[in-house]
Amino acid sequence: MSGEEFRSGEAIANRLSISRASVHNAVRQAQGLGVEVYSVRGRGYRLAHPHSWLDAEQVEAEAKDLGYRLHVHDQVDSTNSRLMALGQVGAAHKTVLAAEWQTGGKGRRGRTWLSPLGGGLAFSALWRFNRTASDLSCLSLAVGLGLVRALRQLGLADAQLKWPNDVLHQDRKLAGILIELHGEALGPSMAVIGVGVNVRLPEALRSEIDQPVTDLLEGLGEAVDRNHLLIECLRQLDGVLSHYEEEGFAGLRSEWEANHAFHGREARMIAAQGESWRGRVAGIDEAGALLLDTETGQRRFYSGELSLRGVSA
Ligand code: ATP
Repeated sequence: MSGEEFRSGEAIANRLSISRASVHNAVRQAQGLGVEVYSVRGRGYRLAHPHSWLDAEQVEAEAKDLGYRLHVHDQVDSTNSRLMALGQVGAAHKTVLAAEWQTGGKGRRGRTWLSPLGGGLAFSALWRFNRTASDLSCLSLAVGLGLVRALRQLGLADAQLKWPNDVLHQDRKLAGILIELHGEALGPSMAVIGVGVNVRLPEALRSEIDQPVTDLLEGLGEAVDRNHLLIECLRQLDGVLSHYEEEGFAGLRSEWEANHAFHGREARMIAAQGESWRGRVAGIDEAGALLLDTETGQRRFYSGELSLRGVSA
């Protein structure tokens, strides 16, 4: 189906050697998965928006200097789960697994990440570190910075970070990160770095998400090519992860703080058990802990069972 012109059900059926009823059913199914399709009697079907499908060859060729090996799947439960399984049976450093449609995307602490068919960028990258897992506690911060750099390259100048693992645009969530680690106590370690970026998030899906969200279409005012987005993310991740492997997080800290949406703002830190602390965000320390100036002094929060939320002053 095209994004530019209508194609009749008959033409699509002939092209695919299926019945017109099957075309009709497939269109209904695609609509149910969040793909917007115009259907006009007498003219046929047209995608509401031109679509850029992922192209492993193009991405590998354009990012050749970086040495990634990319696998693109039509559908997976979770790119992280799939890649973790491959990593445990020896998949190489810099293996990347992307999916057109992720049916069971994961957030932190068992939460879910929703992405429409072809309307988001969902991928995971496997990175092998000569470091212990406890040395990797700031990895999600470094990855977030890589994503902000990538979005900047694509023209979104004001993407920001939210401690510890989100990317926001105008205080709404644009991208999420989920890192899963595997390794021996003394290293080396394997990290599976999952990234979800909203490219075009349909209204129906937005209403299922319990916090303000946005997509790149809104942020940039035009559709972004998902292959270019993936290439830029891989390029910038290469930069921050190579830096992390060699020098740790310290050298990235001031840039991270400069891009933190909550820097200097009143916020609330909420623990999973419900306890919460209110104060002004003072920054992060070298270990990536968030520093909050509260009425009773400065508190330091290490990532884990904690969520940062804004409060109106
Ligand atoms: P925290 O601040 O604790 O990290 P979070 O809400 O960002 O909180 P994550 O585990 O990072 O939690 O991400 C999962 C959450 O992200 C879901 O519970 C939902 O609120 C939100 N979410 C799910 N899908 C999307 C999406 N496509 N775009 C933006 N937000 C989403």
